Amino acid sequence: MCWTWSKPPARGYCGRYGAVTRGDCELQALNTLHLRARARGLQRVADLDTLRAALRSAGALGLPVIPLGQGSNVVLCEQLEALVLKLEMRGKTVLSEDSEQVCLRVAAGEDWHGLVVWCLDQGYYGLENLALIPGTVGAAPIQNIGAYGRELAPFVSAVHALRCADGSELLLSREDCEFGYRDSVFKHRLRDAVVITHLDLQLPRRDLPDCSYPGLQQQLVQQSGAGPATARAVFDAVVALRRAKLPDPAREHNAGSFFKNPMVDRARAEQMRRDFPALPVYPVEGAAKLSAAWLIEQAGWKGVRRDGVGVHPGHALVLVNYGADDGDRLLQLARDIQSSVAARFAIELEIEPRVYGRME
Ligand SMILES: Cc1cc2nc3c(=O)[nH]c(=O)nc-3n(C[C@H](O)[C@H](O)[C@H](O)COP(=O)(O)OP(=O)(O)OC[C@H]3O[C@@H](n4cnc5c(N)ncnc54)[C@H](O)[C@@H]3O)c2cc1C
Repeated sequence: MCWTWSKPPARGYCGRYGAVTRGDCELQALNTLHLRARARGLQRVADLDTLRAALRSAGALGLPVIPLGQGSNVVLCEQLEALVLKLEMRGKTVLSEDSEQVCLRVAAGEDWHGLVVWCLDQGYYGLENLALIPGTVGAAPIQNIGAYGRELAPFVSAVHALRCADGSELLLSREDCEFGYRDSVFKHRLRDAVVITHLDLQLPRRDLPDCSYPGLQQQLVQQSGAGPATARAVFDAVVALRRAKLPDPAREHNAGSFFKNPMVDRARAEQMRRDFPALPVYPVEGAAKLSAAWLIEQAGWKGVRRDGVGVHPGHALVLVNYGADDGDRLLQLARDIQSSVAARFAIELEIEPRVYGRME
């Protein structure tokens, strides 16, 4: 069944039209929060020609595109007036390699954790602290993924993308990406403007892991004593810590940390430390990061469950869809948490996942 764009499909319809599936395309299986949402179009993209064709179709239909990897950092609400591009491009290429370092080009649809495992097996180091972060390689630069004392940014040499407006190519250096804490140019000047197709990474070939993160050190000592750690040991420790601490989205639907740790200047951090001596404060260049989890727990939200959504009992930063399947209810909970933290601590919590749909 085909239809022209001037005549929208009946609600509930989802059919193929050319390369693009259009109509009410169900997205519940495509996001780790398992929220019910529909899009005007859905296209699975496994190569650049398909991506260019999809961008042309979206332009012709006057629809914005929403690139989607594994949907582990999005809140999808109701009807998305957009063409969703499910990015599934695969491939890893060694561009150059010597005894010191390797340069890799990795396609956007590759699984991030799969890449971390592969790199370790090849003797390419540096990514081990970022093990088990869900999602695709193409999404990793969007929020400059980070965990256990490391971020993606220092390993990125270039990001390849296509402009949504005309499908033309764009090459960004690390500096062009303007990486920050859970931040990059893709959340600002290039927000909704590009689809990342490949990531170039430059990784050391020397096994000199970063074990500076306090919880990681403890786990390493517990795991293998006080001797010098290897990247493999750090990987094992990170996997063990994450498995023990974070709810598995397959069983308890979530998007990881729902709020960013708030950044404040040093003077404010000192004041907060005086007022709340137990508050964890992490110094960063010229500023300080406060523990959002602590603020939320102190405001009484840890373990609270209502209307089929809730705050995980073991991890106050993680909001869980317990069966409401409704993005609006989840966002209402998030807003109530933000209000109560603001009222108690005068700190604004920022939502980390990207929100799409009518509540955006
Ligand atoms: C249990 C759990 C634990 C997590 N732990 C961490 C953690 O420790 N550290 C951390 O940083 N994050 C963490 N996250 C968040 C998430 O894993 C990352 O943000 C990840 O990079 C998202 O990848 P994705 O493919 O699922 O992106 P999606 O959720 O599909 O997309 C996220 C955003 O990126 C955009 N996007 C995706 N792909 C592309 C592309 N190719 N081109 C342009 N835009 C694109 C989307 O449009 C959307 O705006 C966690 C999430 C979960 C569920």
